[in-house]
Order: sequence, then structure tokens, then C-alpha cells
Amino acid sequence: MDTCSPARAVMPKQSEAFMSDTNPTPVPVPFDTIVIGGGISGLAIAHTLSRKGKKVHLIEKSDRLGGAVHSERREGFLCEAGPNSMLVKSESVWNFIHEIGLEDTLVLANEISNNRFLVKDGQLVALPQSLGGGVTTPLYSFPEKLRLLAEPFIGSSKLEDESVTSFVSRRMGKAFLEYGISALVSGIYAGDPDALSLRHAFPKVWNLEQGYGSLIGGAIKLKFERKKQGITPFKSKMISFKDGLQELATALADAPGLAVSKGTGLDSIKRDADGNWIVAMEGHSHGIIAKDLILTTPLDAYEHLPVEDDLREQLAKIDIPGHPPLSTLVLGFDRDQVSHPLDGFGVLCPRMEKRFGLGAIFSSTLFPDRAPDGKVSLMCFIGGVQQPENGELPTDKLVEETVKDLKPLLGLQGDPCFVSHSFWPRAIPQYNVGHQFFIDSLTAVEDKFTGLHLLGNFRGGPGLNDCIESALRFAGYIE
Ligand SMILES: Cc1cc2nc3c(=O)[nH]c(=O)nc-3n(C[C@H](O)[C@H](O)[C@H](O)COP(=O)(O)OP(=O)(O)OC[C@H]3O[C@@H](n4cnc5c(N)ncnc54)[C@H](O)[C@@H]3O)c2cc1C
Repeated sequence: MDTCSPARAVMPKQSEAFMSDTNPTPVPVPFDTIVIGGGISGLAIAHTLSRKGKKVHLIEKSDRLGGAVHSERREGFLCEAGPNSMLVKSESVWNFIHEIGLEDTLVLANEISNNRFLVKDGQLVALPQSLGGGVTTPLYSFPEKLRLLAEPFIGSSKLEDESVTSFVSRRMGKAFLEYGISALVSGIYAGDPDALSLRHAFPKVWNLEQGYGSLIGGAIKLKFERKKQGITPFKSKMISFKDGLQELATALADAPGLAVSKGTGLDSIKRDADGNWIVAMEGHSHGIIAKDLILTTPLDAYEHLPVEDDLREQLAKIDIPGHPPLSTLVLGFDRDQVSHPLDGFGVLCPRMEKRFGLGAIFSSTLFPDRAPDGKVSLMCFIGGVQQPENGELPTDKLVEETVKDLKPLLGLQGDPCFVSHSFWPRAIPQYNVGHQFFIDSLTAVEDKFTGLHLLGNFRGGPGLNDCIESALRFAGYIE
């Protein structure tokens, strides 16, 4: 089925223009760019190129746009199956969100969500938010706090890449790794700090050490440098939209010159003698042709693409990074079933605590209208690299174990009144040590096939902000 977005369909009707006078073979319809994959990466790239005046055709195999982004309102609860919020980290992405007409529906996270909790020794402990809080926090002992102060005096690494564990233990000490960064790593990547690359997973932190020799010293120097140059740094903003992140996907699909085909399989991807890409879609008598072909599908989709042998051979050489399984649960409770005030973003469970889940976001605190009056909602994350088997459990068991896990932390009573479970067999690409080899292998394929671009959340960062920044960069809007 081909469901071109009604307002933007630029494909001619079957009866028009596809047959040349002399040859009954349908002539492919010309575009500047063909984008395969309608997740946020593909949509953002298609949108930004269209806004630059390019004629773009995006093909999504499922009936829904958004990929990992999937919001649904059920029984008054707004359920996000995948991402729950977007951290806007740059002025360019912030402006872009406004330019695409989302300013009226944009919701900023409740200020109270600056409070974040960590589990330590089976108790919830608030993460310090100030220097004073850092001095008094029970998360670290006095010697551990002193160890952190030694950070500016530790020399830089000469390594090309380093694991998060190695980097943080070396610069800040083991305690800061275990009751700080390792939980953050679970929260973003559902990953393993022993394997994740500091350089690729947290490039800004890596660059601080490379550029200034210290994180604390670098941050201070950077602040002064910016002040001197009159640069006001952008303050990151946690956002969503009234009806959830799906609104972002819908807005991105709406651009002049952008044709979108949903629920559309691919018959073949070929090149003509001039190196143009010709894509034939299932159920269509005609193909489409463009100079540029951008693949934004997940990497495991490459082996099923109907490409010619030479490209298939090259794509097969890409050493695909691991993607752990992950389950997300949206749990609804009556307000009086939860004794904790839920006055924060949520709770992260460091690996040392050996809990069932990775953590929970206090969704109904974070954004308005996430739960009906008198009720609250939690979004819980289970599985990831370190406990993949937990993420693969059936819904009943997941709910039972998650409620048991959170009960002593949040003072839960009874069963949830609402449950929504989403299973992600391949959730988030792991930017592990050696990620550069993977990036190089993508570049090698692109170099061999002019006009081919391999983009997605495996390159440039997995967050929604990263996917949009990658699109803006690709379209030449930012460096
Ligand atoms: C559970 C979970 C929670 C997350 N939480 C957050 C969060 O809170 N904040 C945040 O910023 N990020 C979060 N992320 C990360 C972020 O959501 C993803 O990295 C991002 O949405 C990926 O977008 P993408 O377009 O690169 O890939 P995808 O969303 O995977 O999109 C790829 C698209 O390609 C399509 N496709 C596949 N094969 C074909 C084919 N043959 N032909 C055509 N189309 C095809 C797929 O159907 C899909 O629509 C989360 C991710 C997950 C899984």
C-alpha cells in the first residue's frame, strides 16, 4: 500500500507521465534524493533537504512514520513506547523545532525534573545539583570526594579510544563511575561502561580532556573563553509535545517538495549507467530515480535490501555494532498507591545495586497531561547490555518483577491500574571502543558508491537531538 501524505504527494498518478511514447517501460519519476527509512533520522534529513529546495521521496516500510518514536494515548495515559523526551542541546535544533511549526505544541519538562535520584544501598538518594550538594551528598565518602578534586592534576591519555570505565576511573575515581556515570550510561545507551567508547559515546567529554587536559579545568576555561568572546552558551532543554514525540515525526513529514510513501516495500535498488539510483517500490508500475540515495534504516535491515550484488557484498562487510534488547513499561497507578512525591525526573539503578530494572522515569511529573486526574505514570526500562534476559521476559513477569523492584523505592502499593509494554529486540546501537572502525567501514562503502549515504542513529549519536543535528549537518545547515 502506498499512502503518500495527502498534502505533499508530488508523485504523478499512475496514468500520467510514466510511459514514454516509444517505450512501454515506465519511466522512473525523477527526484533529487531518495530517502529509505521514516524514523526521525530519515524524516529529519528528508525535511531539511526539502526545505533547501530539493525534491525528495521518502519510503517507509511500515504504516507509521517515526520508527522508534511511537506515542499513543490509551485510557487517558500518554504512552511513549520508545523515547520519552528529547534533550535539545543546541540553538540550531531549538530553532529548527520552532521553524517546523511545533512551537505551539512544545512542552518543556517540569523544572522539578532537575531532581534526579540514584539508588544506593537500596535507598533513593538525590544527585547533587550544586557544589554545596556535592560536598554533603551521601553518595560518596570523604576520600572519594577528595579523589574527585584531584581530577585537574591527572594527565591526559594518549590513547586513540578508551572505555567509559577506564576514562572515568582514571580521572575521577571508581566511586564516581559506579554511583554516577555507569547509571547515566544505562539511562542513555542501556549499555556497558566497560565496553562503551568515551570518545564516541561522550565526545564532548573526550574533547575536554584532549583540548584542555582536564574536565573540571577545561569546563572552567571554556566558560571564560566564551565569556571573553561574548558567546552565551545554549542551555539544554528537555522537551516533548502535547501529544508526545510522535508530533515531531508528523511535522517532519510535512515539507514542500517532500513525497512520503508509507507501508511500502522495495522491489529493487539499482543504478543506471550514469550512476543514478533507481528504486522500484512494491505495487508500483513505475520506479523513482535520483542522484542521491540515503539509507536511514537500522543496520540489520541492510541484508534484506534488494540491492545489486556489488553493493550487497560491500554492505555485508560492515561490522554491525551490538544492539541490546530492551523492554519499556508504562505503568499507571492511582496517586495514593505511590507514597513517594515523584518530585523529579526519575530514578536510575547503578549496576552495583543489582536491581531488576535499569530505572524509571516519573513521566507524569515530567510533562503535563501524561496521566488522567488522580493518577500517575512511570516509564520503566528493563534489559539492556547488562541484563538482556530481563528485557526479554513476558509482560506479566516483567510487570510483577518491576513492581517488586520499585515497591520499596517509591512506596508502591498494589497492582498498577494501567500497563503498556513495548519490546525492542534491538534497541540502541552501542558506541563501543573501536566504533571508529565501524564508521570507517561505512565511509568505505560510501566512497565506492557515488551518491550513497549511510545515516542513522548509529552515526553522530543515538539521541533524537543527535539525529536532527546529523540531518542539519548533512543538509549543510550546520558544520
Ligand atoms: C526504548 C528506547 C528509548 C529511547 N529513549 C530516548 C529518549 O528518551 N530520548 C532520545 O533522545 N532518544 C531516545 N532513544 C533513541 C532514539 O529514539 C533513536 O535513536 C532514534 O529515534 C532512531 O531514529 P532512526 O531514524 O535513526 O532509526 P529508527 O527509528 O529505527 O527508524 C528507522 C526506520 O527505517 C524503517 N525501515 C526499516 N527497514 C526498511 C526498509 N527496508 N524500507 C523502508 N523503511 C525501512 C523502519 O521501519 C523505521 O521506521 C530511545 C530509543 C529506544 C529504542
